[in-house]
Amino acid sequence: MEADRADPEAPAVDLRRDGAAALDWAASYLERVGELSVLAQVEPGWLLDRLPDSPPEAGESFSSLLEDLDRLILPAVTHWQHPRFMAYFANTGSDPAILAELLTITLNQVGILWRTSPALAELEECTLAWLGQLLGLPPEWHGRIEDTASIATLTALAAARAAMPERRVVVCTEHTHSSVDKAARMLELELRRVPVDAAYRMRPDLLDATDACAIVATVGTTSTTSSDPVAEIARRKDAAWLHVDAAYAGAAWVCPELRGEDIRGADSLIVNAHKWLLTGMGCSCLWTARVEDFRRAFSLVPEYLRTSDEVLSLSEVSIPLGRPFRALRLWAVLRCYGRSGLQALIREHVRLAALFEEWVLAEPGWEVCAPRPLSVVCFRFEGSDEENEALFERVNATGEIFISHTRLDGRYVLRLAIGNARTTEADVRHAWEVLQRCAR
Ligand SMILES: *Cc1c(COP(=O)(O)O)cnc(C)c1O
Repeated sequence: MEADRADPEAPAVDLRRDGAAALDWAASYLERVGELSVLAQVEPGWLLDRLPDSPPEAGESFSSLLEDLDRLILPAVTHWQHPRFMAYFANTGSDPAILAELLTITLNQVGILWRTSPALAELEECTLAWLGQLLGLPPEWHGRIEDTASIATLTALAAARAAMPERRVVVCTEHTHSSVDKAARMLELELRRVPVDAAYRMRPDLLDATDACAIVATVGTTSTTSSDPVAEIARRKDAAWLHVDAAYAGAAWVCPELRGEDIRGADSLIVNAHKWLLTGMGCSCLWTARVEDFRRAFSLVPEYLRTSDEVLSLSEVSIPLGRPFRALRLWAVLRCYGRSGLQALIREHVRLAALFEEWVLAEPGWEVCAPRPLSVVCFRFEGSDEENEALFERVNATGEIFISHTRLDGRYVLRLAIGNARTTEADVRHAWEVLQRCAR
């Protein structure tokens, strides 16, 4: 019986033939992604209603899956690769990252201990040191990759709590990312918010960290991309652990002129390479000046994992035991773009955002609602919150652009974020035209 055969390869897949077809599918998708509706135009349940209730009994061909990708999956995709994806923090899965992802699963490394993949352990060390150099970080900091900023922050706050168990408070602001609230809840720490100034930056003069195990300072807050004054906070931290969340804005430090804050006083720092550094989702970089504190908080080596290798295993300083070979994607991006390629991308995005900001400022009836240090513009149209919300819904329903919103000082505000490598000046102009058309 065919179906009973123990075959290591799926019987219906030919890696070269189907692989070529999959790569061809990927290339043609990326060529035409800008013509698709950015936001998926389906109702909840649309895809579930169309998928079979049970998996197939006998293996199917890979080509039938590729057909379903067009027929079933694409209509339910919100296109993050679209040049007019301008919501949240736009990002890109770049060509080098796409190819590296294929090679990653081909090698299928599981980083548990150094010996289970010396390549993974050492490439992760090297790429994080490279990226640290590009961003101007202290060379002695230890870097590693987590899947998301949320997990990286949870890990850092757990290390901070373990380092000062008698202190149970985390200090931040109302503009701190919700992942910090979530981490504090899980770690049973109390969250205390310091007031912000008119530009949404933490007021260090009002900071009291005497009972805090950690302070979270943000460089590039989620709503407005404001930055807390990290150096001043570091001077007033009262032995608390200073965690800097630069998940979005840290990428901009590739350009020396965009390094606004001196972050050398931080105990830990996160930068999402998956946001503005082209790796695709699931590559959040965490550096620390206190790797031994992470080790004390997380090291647990059972008998079956003891070895005589005298190297630090990343599983001793983080939550997961096994880690994927994420560094390969980052390595591919850093090599194929180089410092100058990354700088050119970031500078272009900042230029485009500045241009959009100028258009909004120059147009009667429109208002810019927060300073714009990088590639995100907060703005609104004259009228009530309800009218702006209705405008927001109309704009996104066009499928031509996708933006997000926030609330600042109680007011409903629109938010346009530039961060996709395919975005051109024509796309930003297109976005502005859609906004003006929908506002009329
Ligand atoms: C995006 C973002 C996060 C959360 O990132 P995930 O990787 O999705 O967990 C946290 N903080 C800031 C400042 C962010 O911009």
